[in-house]
Amino acid sequence: MSTSKAHGAGPQPVQFHFDYSYARLPERFYARLNPTPVAAPKLIKLNDGLARELGLDPDQLASPAGVQILAGNQVAEGSEPLAQAYAGHQFGHFVPMLGDGRTNLLGEVIARNGARYDIQLKGSGPTPFSRRGDGRAAMGPVLREYIVSEAMAAMGVPTTRALAAVSTGQPVYRESVVPGAVFTRVAASHIRVGTFQYFAAKGDVEAIRILADFAIARHYPEAATSTKPYRAFLDGVISRQARLIAQWMMLGFIHGVMNTDNMSVSGETIDFGPCAFMEAYDPATVFSSIDQRGRYSYSNQPIAAHWNLTRLAEALLPLLQQESGSEEAGLASANEALAAYEPQFDAARQAGFARKIGLQTQLDGDGALAADLLDRMARNAADFTLTFRLLCDAAADPAADRHVRSLFADPSAYDAWAVVWRSRLRLEPLPGSLLADTMRKVNPAFIPRNHLVQAAIEAAELREDYRPFEELVDVISRPFEVRLGMDRFTSPATPAERVLHTFCGT
Ligand code: AMP
Ligand code: MG
Repeated sequence: MSTSKAHGAGPQPVQFHFDYSYARLPERFYARLNPTPVAAPKLIKLNDGLARELGLDPDQLASPAGVQILAGNQVAEGSEPLAQAYAGHQFGHFVPMLGDGRTNLLGEVIARNGARYDIQLKGSGPTPFSRRGDGRAAMGPVLREYIVSEAMAAMGVPTTRALAAVSTGQPVYRESVVPGAVFTRVAASHIRVGTFQYFAAKGDVEAIRILADFAIARHYPEAATSTKPYRAFLDGVISRQARLIAQWMMLGFIHGVMNTDNMSVSGETIDFGPCAFMEAYDPATVFSSIDQRGRYSYSNQPIAAHWNLTRLAEALLPLLQQESGSEEAGLASANEALAAYEPQFDAARQAGFARKIGLQTQLDGDGALAADLLDRMARNAADFTLTFRLLCDAAADPAADRHVRSLFADPSAYDAWAVVWRSRLRLEPLPGSLLADTMRKVNPAFIPRNHLVQAAIEAAELREDYRPFEELVDVISRPFEVRLGMDRFTSPATPAERVLHTFCGT
């Protein structure tokens, strides 16, 4: 195993204290290989706070020796880099062999909270899974993933995190020639629905069992003590996904590429490609330039997740059948588990939207009240984020209604709803001013609006000006704060600024 000390650095080598469990799995789970060095790495950004949470020293990481590791030019002490094998359904078509075509898992660290996290480099060079790809990442998508994943984390959504972004000093060739970058991602794990599919497609039941046992130990330890551990595991993944997708829906988030290889069994949002937050509310919104048919539109996300979970259940079928005693019983077990998805998703979504409109108690008709607002927003192209945020002020003071109603093409559509809403709010035990405070904790003021993300990327790519990126990362890291004079960040794009499609940019 190659472990080389970083050179040309300060007195201390960078210490990750890697603790590796995935590398102990059988060799057919991955390919061992080191990242490919890049020409002239420069640190764009290090996430100091996250580094500390992980028990890492941010100063060491930002030192020349640290940047060498974050660029893939040096292998950190104790690291056993590998590329993971997985398969996946891409837009409904099964690809038996995908795998990490441009990432290296460096190792796992135990964070200060005791949890285990993967540290992975993305854009770190070709691997045996690269197919025709170059193994690299363009700077734009790296900065997008940095911004959006940190925004999700700040809003309390389970997600992979951004530890660092480094520019490589090398061009990458996409639709045009763009600067390259390496992204350091932190994840609870990188086990995907597609990882199970990879072994299922080969009929390798032993590997499915090893992987399931690994995932249970790491993410669902309570399942191990169940009489049917694999059913309990499937139930757990389904629950977490139901709640995750509900959170996306509550924030107007559109993932963009919900292929089975981009769904993590840990329940984290993963693989931010052409993702974005919707502005004018329209359930049919699609951003991805490659999603011609709207498979992964905003309103299809819950359906896409269920479809993916069905693929997971299929892959687990041999285990479910063994523990259930027969083929039929195993199939029934899988179907029972899948049937629990929709009620869990609906409950999470309903409760979430009720909180967004200030309802702390539950009464009949609350779901319809929220649905009616969304319907009026859709018909009047109201900005999703601003409507809910300004509604907080309106809960405290009806005089603030004028700000909300101005977001609707026909403001009277809001007025009619507000009458019913106010009469419902009066049934709440808390006064409006306190309800407004609770609403401000679930209705962000600051999301990474797509035109701002685009502007930050352009400044970085064209002028090596990272200030707009820095500024945006700072703003989205405190999404619920009340800050004045921030209209530039809270306002929707003007027609000229609007970004209609977000390219995968892989
Ligand atoms: P993604 O669209 O990023 O989820 O990637 C889908 C698959 O394509 C994964 O197997 C990636 O590793 C692979 N891939 C994406 N971009 C590249 C690239 N530039 N070079 C090699 N493989 C890639
Ligand atoms: Mg992916």
